[in-house]
Amino acid sequence: MTALVIAEHDHGTLKSATLNTVTAAAALGGDVHVLVAGHNAAAAAAAAAQIAGVAKVLHADSAALAEGLAENVAAQVIALASGYSHILFPATAAGKNVAPRVAALLDVAQLSDITKVISADTFERPIYAGNAIATVQSGDATKVVTVRTTGFDPAAATGGSAAVETVAASADSGRSSFVGREVTKSDRPELTAAKIIVSGGRALGSNEKFMEVLTPLADKLGAALGASRAAVDAGYAPNDWQVGQTGKIVAPQLYVACGISGAIQHLAGMKDSKVIVAINKDAEAPIFSVADYGLEADLFTAVPELVNAL
Ligand code: FAD
Repeated sequence: MTALVIAEHDHGTLKSATLNTVTAAAALGGDVHVLVAGHNAAAAAAAAAQIAGVAKVLHADSAALAEGLAENVAAQVIALASGYSHILFPATAAGKNVAPRVAALLDVAQLSDITKVISADTFERPIYAGNAIATVQSGDATKVVTVRTTGFDPAAATGGSAAVETVAASADSGRSSFVGREVTKSDRPELTAAKIIVSGGRALGSNEKFMEVLTPLADKLGAALGASRAAVDAGYAPNDWQVGQTGKIVAPQLYVACGISGAIQHLAGMKDSKVIVAINKDAEAPIFSVADYGLEADLFTAVPELVNAL
C-alpha cells in the first residue's frame, strides 16, 4: 500500500498544505510518495524530499506543467496512478480543481475534505457546514482523497532524506491554455497559513472603515486579514479574504472576530482556531458560543483601545 501526495508548490517552494497532506497520507500506514509536477521546480522537489516520513519524490518537469493547469496536472497524475492505493490532494483551490478530474478519469468516487483517517478505506469528513461528521468507507481500488489541512498537523519540513526520481512528463492536453494571472501583492501572511487572523464583519460598514479600524490591529499582531461573507458581499473586503463554508477554512493560533455574528456558515471556516476572540456589541451573538474570550463592546472603540494597549 503506497500513497501518492500531490504537492502544492510555486516551483521554488512547497506550500504548507503539502505538509498537512503528508501527515494524512502517513496515517494510512503505508509508504508515502510525493509528486512535484511543475516547470523548473527542482527546488520544490528537493524540499519535498526533506519532509519527514516521505519515502520517494517523483518530479515531473515540463512547460505544460508550469501554470498548474488542472487538465495537464490531472493527466500527469493519471500517468502515475496505477502504482498507488491512495492519491491525496490538499483540499485547496488547486487541489479541488485537479482531484475530481483524477477521480473521474479513474472512475472512482472522490473522498472529499477528510479530517481523520480511521483506516486505509475509512475516513471522517464534516458535512452540513461542519455540524455533523460523516464516517465514509470506500471500496474503490484507488482512493482519491482531498484533505482538509486544518484537520492534520503539518509533517516536519525537515528530517527526511527521500530520493528524487525524475518521471516522464505528460504531453500538453491542449484543452486549456494559460492566459494571465493577477496576483494580489501583500506583505501580510497568506490567510490559510497565517498564525493570527483579524477578521471583520458587516458591522464595519464600509471598505474605508474596515481598513481603517482593522489594519492597525492586524499590523500590531502580524496577522492576516479575513472577513465574513456579508462583509465581502458588501464590498468591504476582497473576495479572497472570505472565511467560512464557501470561503477559506482556517485554523490559526488566534482568530479575532470583530463585528461578526457567528452564523454557522462562518463558524464552519474558523471554529477549529486554537484561540477565538470575539468583539460584538450583542451579548446574544452566536460567535460568543465558540469564543474563548468574548468582549461585549462597540468595535469602533474597543479595537483602537486594543491597538493602543498592544
Ligand atoms: P451579520 O450577521 O449582520 O452580523 C453583524 C454582527 O455585528 C452582529 O452580530 C452585530 O451585533 C455586530 N455589530 C454591529 N455593530 C457592531 C459594532 N459597532 N461593534 C461590535 N459589533 C457590532 N458567511 C460567511 O461568513 N462565510 C461563508 O463562507 C458563508 N457561506 C455561506 C453559504 C451559504 C450557502 C449561505 C446561505 C450563507 C453563507 N454565509 C457565509 C452567510 C452567513 O449565513 C451570514 O449571513 C454571514 O456570515 C453574516 O456575516 P456577518 O456576521 O458579518 O453579518
